Amino acid sequence: MSIAKNLIEIKSQLLENVTLVAVSKTKPVSELMEAYEAGQRVFGENKIQEMTSKFEEMPKDIQWHMIGHIQSNKVKYMAPFVSLIHAVDSLKLLKEINKQALKNNRVISCLLQVKIADEESKFGLSEDDVLQLLVSEEFNSLQNIKIEGLMGMATFTNDEAQLIQEFQKLNTLYATLKNKYNLSTLSMGMSGDYPIAISNGSNMVRVGSAIFGKRNYSI
Ligand SMILES: *Cc1c(COP(=O)(O)O)cnc(C)c1O
Repeated sequence: MSIAKNLIEIKSQLLENVTLVAVSKTKPVSELMEAYEAGQRVFGENKIQEMTSKFEEMPKDIQWHMIGHIQSNKVKYMAPFVSLIHAVDSLKLLKEINKQALKNNRVISCLLQVKIADEESKFGLSEDDVLQLLVSEEFNSLQNIKIEGLMGMATFTNDEAQLIQEFQKLNTLYATLKNKYNLSTLSMGMSGDYPIAISNGSNMVRVGSAIFGKRNYSI
């Protein structure tokens, strides 16, 4: 199937309130442009350098989401244009994002990544870490970041019961914090599990291979 057809097929399965982030990491600009021509405007990348060069080459009405784990020293390259940073998992990183946002006279939207998978390889804060961060004085002094919501990655498994349990865990935390902290985004679900994520409260899915086909190497 073509990229445009894949997009139509996936969008037909999304509830109206769900944002589709087209995860285009490792894919060439020509393929991103196919998605763009089909109306897609939100793209997700996991490497700052790759996202920055695609930003420079592509139309300027695209919203670029950084979905990968971030090294603080590279935040400055994306600070002028990034529209949402999904995987924020430390106060140190938030401070750097705040500093670079200030330099660019912007407020940068972020999601806190919460660890829901039972895999050591996945990053993220614990629920307690999130609660402590949100009430800390240092966090509350940061004027150029906005926490828009939470992000999580489920375990890589076909066990639907486990996926439901992990997504529910994050949805429950989100529901607890939503009103108090004015949150609007719950980012969970990828090609293999986005329908389950949506059934369990997700309103932003990050879908790569189901749109662009398999990547040559997995990262
Ligand atoms: C690569 C990636 C995705 C998309 O994965 P697919 O299985 O190809 O849909 C989603 N989220 C993150 C954080 C990723 O790194």
